[in-house]
Amino acid sequence: MPDDHERETVLILGGTREATDLARQLLTDRPDARIITSLAGRTKEPAPLAGEVRTGGFGGAQGLARYIQDNGVTQLIDATHPFARQISANAVEAAGLTGVPFEIRKRTPWAKQPGDNWIEVETLEEARDAIPEGARVLLALGSQHIGLFSTREDVHFVVRMIDPPEEPLSLPDHTLVLGRPGDSAAVETMLLIAHSITHIVCRNSGGKAAYAKIEAARQMGLPVIMVKRTP
Ligand code: NAP
Repeated sequence: MPDDHERETVLILGGTREATDLARQLLTDRPDARIITSLAGRTKEPAPLAGEVRTGGFGGAQGLARYIQDNGVTQLIDATHPFARQISANAVEAAGLTGVPFEIRKRTPWAKQPGDNWIEVETLEEARDAIPEGARVLLALGSQHIGLFSTREDVHFVVRMIDPPEEPLSLPDHTLVLGRPGDSAAVETMLLIAHSITHIVCRNSGGKAAYAKIEAARQMGLPVIMVKRTP
């Protein structure tokens, strides 16, 4: 087998289910290639990944460019979450700096279906302000965005997280549910009913993994305050 600097080396910027699927697929399609998935390290126990895994920030676009050069990366694929904007901007810049072939694979946004009751907003701040007084909200957002909602003392929030938060949540009135999103509308419906949810707040991430709650909301006629994808 050629040494690492002669082998085809694919760096996948990951952290999504699609990136996990892509790593598995590339290993099957290109058995001689070195397939490396990069994770930010936000999740303590990420789902198992095929191929190599590296974890933690690179130190901006320059750091990513250095990693690409030091590891003889021959292809860079951005398969990160559509709202992970900084790493995607860094990837574009690092590809420019190094000249490495570069591909972007982002999920397409969910399209509104008949029966969906979406209140579409541009920003998380608008989402916060669109919640009616007295609502019981499933706040389906990453932990870094939760604090923004702490001014809504008139709302009960249900927050689902994979790992327990390191600091207590700053939300005045909330229930914390630990676990991954349910993979079927039926499972998500049980959660929505159990917590008497009246609204869901989420971003239009696209993809299958987080869609079950949208289907459940449609079936129950619940409003979804949906932050749109900006170009
Ligand atoms: P972000 O704001 O775009 O990134 C912030 C910093 O985290 C980046 O500048 C980079 O640090 C580091 N980073 C992010 N993704 C990385 C990766 N795949 N490998 C190595 N370093 C990475 O991203 P974010 O919104 O915090 O998301 C972080 C990760 O979680 C992403 O990989 C994303 O795919 C995944 N994720 C995000 C969401 C979401 O809602 N945003 C949802 C599900 C999964 P340096 O500048 O030091 O390199």
